[in-house]
Amino acid sequence: MIDIERPGTRLRRLRRSESIRRLVNETDLHPSKLIAPVFVRHGEKVVEPIESMPGVNRYSVDEVGSYVGRLWDAGIRGVLLFGIPGSKDEMGSQAYSSDGVVPRATAEIKANIPSVLVVADVCLCEYTSHGHCGVVKEGQVDNDATVPLLAKAAVEYARAGAEVVAPSAMMDHQVAAIRTALDDSGHRETVVMGYSAKFASSFYGPFREAAGSTPAFGDRRAYQMSGANSREALREIQGDVDEGADIIMVKPALPYLDIITKARSRFNLPIAAYSVSGEYSMIKAASINGWLNERSAAMEALTSIRRAGADIIITYFAEQAANWLKEAS
Ligand SMILES: [Zn+2]
Repeated sequence: MIDIERPGTRLRRLRRSESIRRLVNETDLHPSKLIAPVFVRHGEKVVEPIESMPGVNRYSVDEVGSYVGRLWDAGIRGVLLFGIPGSKDEMGSQAYSSDGVVPRATAEIKANIPSVLVVADVCLCEYTSHGHCGVVKEGQVDNDATVPLLAKAAVEYARAGAEVVAPSAMMDHQVAAIRTALDDSGHRETVVMGYSAKFASSFYGPFREAAGSTPAFGDRRAYQMSGANSREALREIQGDVDEGADIIMVKPALPYLDIITKARSRFNLPIAAYSVSGEYSMIKAASINGWLNERSAAMEALTSIRRAGADIIITYFAEQAANWLKEAS
């Protein structure tokens, strides 16, 4: 029975005004913690909307500099590049061509906004004719045939000026191979951000439209993780740590907040969380229909990812969130 004459703890005291709520706020969002994914494509003078991701476009190399300038002005300091090449082949050779879209976009961005951090996604799926993340042999993605190609791509991106390379193929030992290749080619300072625990997720659906990377056969469950497994996720992360990753990542974010929290309590590296296309599109679609308030839903989702323990959030809401944060400050 509560003694209302002599009340003790009253948690509502700390919620009485905006000022006191801000004073006791435990989780902050800041634009400097957000990375914006950017789709760069072949061609010229193209800004092409992605139907399943309202507000997100693909940019040709000549257009990407001004877009990244806009992100910079909003307060975003990092971009994660995905390339959509003009041609695809079995080996994904455009992924590791020095003339590929990502190296060219990196140079273009650096010429426009020298201080922006360029993170280059390292995978083959946007570049292979079959849409898998590696080389296919006898119907299977061949791990050890793929890893040297990923390393080659990482070196090309570093050479073009990317400060961070982010291997996302979920091939065993990809981080070690990339670290070694970077060091051997004089890129000792290049940061490796491993997509350490990347789950096979239906929330990637809109991205595959954006990047044209839907597998032509089968699925990715032979290399991406099962959503049922958290202990295995920690083993994957430990593997990347042992292989020399500088930053670890959990992807997707919202359905895997518990993995972020577990990783936070076990590892001392910076943790990135990738809030994927489906997480973005479901909030967008609901808000377009008037079923959710876009701003508050998006900010609540981003806050939950930070609260779970992520230092860095990769999100398609980056620019909007940065502008909302500016308005609120
Ligand atoms: Zn891939």
